Amino acid sequence: MRAATWHGPRDVRVEEKEEPTLASDRDAIVRVTTASICGTDLHVYRGELTVVPGTVLGHEFMGVVERVGSGVRRFREGDRVIVSAWVADGECWFCRRQLFTQCESVNIFGMGPAYGESLDGAFAELVRVPNADVTLIRAPEGVPDERLVFIGDGLATGFDAVANAGLSPGVVVAVVGSGPIGLMSGMCALLFGASEVLMVDVSEERLKFAESLGFRTVNASRADPVEEVRLMTDGRGADVVIEAVGRTVEPLMTAIQMVRRKGTVSVVGFHLHEYGVQMGQLWLTEKKLVFSIGDPIRNGERLIRLVSEGRLDPSRLVTHRLPLEEVPRGFELFERKEALKVLVEVSRGA
Ligand SMILES: [Zn+2]
Repeated sequence: MRAATWHGPRDVRVEEKEEPTLASDRDAIVRVTTASICGTDLHVYRGELTVVPGTVLGHEFMGVVERVGSGVRRFREGDRVIVSAWVADGECWFCRRQLFTQCESVNIFGMGPAYGESLDGAFAELVRVPNADVTLIRAPEGVPDERLVFIGDGLATGFDAVANAGLSPGVVVAVVGSGPIGLMSGMCALLFGASEVLMVDVSEERLKFAESLGFRTVNASRADPVEEVRLMTDGRGADVVIEAVGRTVEPLMTAIQMVRRKGTVSVVGFHLHEYGVQMGQLWLTEKKLVFSIGDPIRNGERLIRLVSEGRLDPSRLVTHRLPLEEVPRGFELFERKEALKVLVEVSRGA
């Protein structure tokens, strides 16, 4: 089969790879119809995470069940499915409490061996999905892939960014970083009743795009974004700030400064490093700091309803559609921020 594999920093090749087989009776093999490049993939692309060379990249995808092991109960050949980026066993203490992203044996596609066994990812014709009864989400007929595929990762993350911030109607939300996750968080914040969502970014292009989706914007390259947001909120700061940049301490500190006293900073940026955060200031101002990874297993069905009813449409973020053979170009476009969401159209399905 054809697959896009990682061979070193910025060295992604589309090549022939052996087809996956069922390794356990709880596995399924999924024929990928649509996948998408996620911001987290960029960390792997750049070599910031240790990945076994030859690993198939990607973790945001959907498709059609090709084969199931004898222990799979809920799915069979031909079922249309969204695949959760996170793999969970469904049995441990955390899974029994629906806390799937903290599963004792959690794993993620296309990013190994960060979480143990290295699982081949989404940018391939076929993918082996462990614990299929837990990891697969049944997709409804009649809703196109481009609206469903992000439920397996990005949209679930945007949803948790807002749900875990305890967002209530009428609040002002600022989002630091108007990339795909920031925009999906903003869409969910409006759905949860935010009176206003302010998108903060340094990229003029991305801010223009955010404006086209109806968000108010703050250009952090022109003025101090903390001051700007204070001016827009009678000097208080935003009620909730979603940090959707990650990688370094700066966006996190900006978010902490941008939120009002007793407000909540909801972190969905990808952070690998430890930072010295001023806990004393957080205590004095009683600001809350919550972190979310995004749980498609827990919230998948709910997101499917919202998307099917047309209340959320993440396909508005799609700027590029490429075939599997052009995944390397997709990464280049995405890294240069020329693309927002790149859809990889792998096959037409069953
Ligand atoms: Zn578990």
